[in-house]
Amino acid sequence: MKKISVAILGATGTVGQKFISLLEHHPWFEIRELVASERSAGQKYGEVCHWREPRALSSALASLVIKPPTASLESVLLFSGLDSSVAGEIEARYAHDGHVVISNSSNHRLDTQVPLVIPEINANHLRMVQTQPYRGAIITNPNCSTMFLSMTLAPLYKNFGIKHVIVTTMQAISGAGYPGVASLDILGNIIPYIAGEEQKIETEPLKILGTWDGAQVIPASFSISAQCNRVPVVDGHCESISIAFDQQVSVSQVKNALRSYQGEIADMALPSAPSAPIIVLDQVDRPQARLDVNRAEGMSTIVGRIRSCPVLDIKMVILGHNTIRGAAGAALLNAELCYSQGILDEYRL
Ligand code: NAP
Repeated sequence: MKKISVAILGATGTVGQKFISLLEHHPWFEIRELVASERSAGQKYGEVCHWREPRALSSALASLVIKPPTASLESVLLFSGLDSSVAGEIEARYAHDGHVVISNSSNHRLDTQVPLVIPEINANHLRMVQTQPYRGAIITNPNCSTMFLSMTLAPLYKNFGIKHVIVTTMQAISGAGYPGVASLDILGNIIPYIAGEEQKIETEPLKILGTWDGAQVIPASFSISAQCNRVPVVDGHCESISIAFDQQVSVSQVKNALRSYQGEIADMALPSAPSAPIIVLDQVDRPQARLDVNRAEGMSTIVGRIRSCPVLDIKMVILGHNTIRGAAGAALLNAELCYSQGILDEYRL
């Protein structure tokens, strides 16, 4: 099979580097172009990028010359890990020019015509691209903490209905990009504020779990209260959540619903799809970021400590890899879904 050429926008950043790691031996996609800011443009990737991935950078990619964000690109499919201060305008321009932009950035996530997709949950929302004003398209994946929260809530919402969710996050430093939070601020400390994060977690899951009626997404109708903390962990966002359901639900019903969840893509054989979207652990002191974050290549949501909540109904702890399933891996799975549904065939430059 001839592989599809792709470009990475924001290729030098934390998410951009994860894209490169995940795409280097991908069976369908091949990295052809790398884009970063004007500061990096014109230089070889290996010379300008502070490579932080454990996997060695290939000499072919190291010698690729970085393009500026104004460049005309040959690849139809673009993966974006652009800084959100610039992503909105740059992504829209490439979509206008006919590219399909698979974006990690928050800028377009809540646009009424832009799908916010987790393939296991709402693959059918991809049809929204037909309503977009672009020659190409923009498709987004959620905020990193939203990803694991939505994945956990999806089977519970479907089976039992949800009234309220309270979530407290403990988010890894790599979620702040590179170089991220100053070491003197985060070592031996917890920072109880991440700009814009609580609002994203309180709104994005409602769009993801909402219903596409052919013209718009009707959001899910429960409420979410989020408090976000940055903690001195390298990779892995942990979240303590309590849920009030529409009906009486036991701990074993919740465990069964989470364990049996397959999602909408179970039969599609997408290369990056985890065999189980949710892994439930029974040990009393798990999940832990250091021990569990790389399960299923970082693509599953890990859930543990499922128990009764004396205030709401059921509480639990969830964990996910923020730069893999919370960012680059999520975008890659969205692109694989687009390819398998023939959506990429509809666009030409
Ligand atoms: P990062 O490490 O700070 O990287 C930002 C990238 O954007 C770099 O490649 C940078 O290029 C590029 N950039 C900055 N200013 C630019 C400009 N004016 N024009 C063109 N390119 C520019 O950030 P990150 O953590 O990878 O995050 C990238 C995006 O993904 C953000 O929108 C973030 O919110 C989102 N996200 C991140 C995570 C995570 O866990 N880190 C998870 C989910 C979503 P230079 O190197 O040339 O400056």
